Amino acid sequence: MITISQDKHVFTMSVNNTPAASCRSGDTVVFETLDCFCNHFHDTTAEFGIQQPKHSNPATGPLYVEEAEPGDALKVEVLSIELGPLGVYVSGPVNPLFEPFLREFKVNRIHVENGYGFITSNHKLSITPMIGVIGTAFGEISTSLPGNHGGNLDCSEIKMGSTLILPVFMKGGLLAVGDLHAMMGDGELGENGLEIDGKVTLKVSLIKGKAIERPMIIELNEFGIIGLGASVDDAVRDAAHHMMSYLINEVSYTPHEASMLIGLASRIKICQQVNQSKTVLLSLPKPLAHIAPA
Ligand code: CA
Ligand code: CA
Repeated sequence: MITISQDKHVFTMSVNNTPAASCRSGDTVVFETLDCFCNHFHDTTAEFGIQQPKHSNPATGPLYVEEAEPGDALKVEVLSIELGPLGVYVSGPVNPLFEPFLREFKVNRIHVENGYGFITSNHKLSITPMIGVIGTAFGEISTSLPGNHGGNLDCSEIKMGSTLILPVFMKGGLLAVGDLHAMMGDGELGENGLEIDGKVTLKVSLIKGKAIERPMIIELNEFGIIGLGASVDDAVRDAAHHMMSYLINEVSYTPHEASMLIGLASRIKICQQVNQSKTVLLSLPKPLAHIAPA
């Protein structure tokens, strides 16, 4: 088993990063990850805004996938997500939505155990672990940004049992993973999830000659494509455009058939609407849309 430790992390998804490890197609790789604040708030005296970590969203890696070249795709199966015992949620005027109600920031340290996050002494919520940041190298892009390469997608459907298809833009792909959330509401309206460190086990396979334009997510019952845009409207249009292309070019529907499937059967999830580039997931029932990649 290949394991990449949490001290091997990057803050950009870049062709210039030195690979932390390499694997062959079909290998299983464990990524040990820091939380998005570099575990800064594990120090119980640390407050928000004072001695902040210099960078955020460390992504463990990158992983060099042998024989991966531009124009290929990576199939990434999420086999497991194990979480540490301490989650962090920063509440405050992070979003215009909360500004009328909150004046200062507060670091909330949330104990996570036995499938629950203990939000207050009276309230516990079931955890739904997800991966916030996962992507391949694309020029030189911050791990805090989403894009065609994946990155800071903050899609709660990237979870155990899901499969992500990512484009390869650089030799080796250079896959990096971080920003686990024990849970996160749709849209990430608080600008963070329950941020937590942990360990992600992925099976990484190469799909040769499969150029894709947007990350795709295959779940138990649904097939989805990520949309990106300056607004949620733009991101929905982007996802629908790429789903149309996929249905026509890959699944051989006519344009009328493809538009009917989207018009009558699609589901849209707002992944996050708080960053400069918004992300949505547009999905269809798997039997209608999904062709298993080679
Ligand atoms: Ca994130
Ligand atoms: Ca996060």
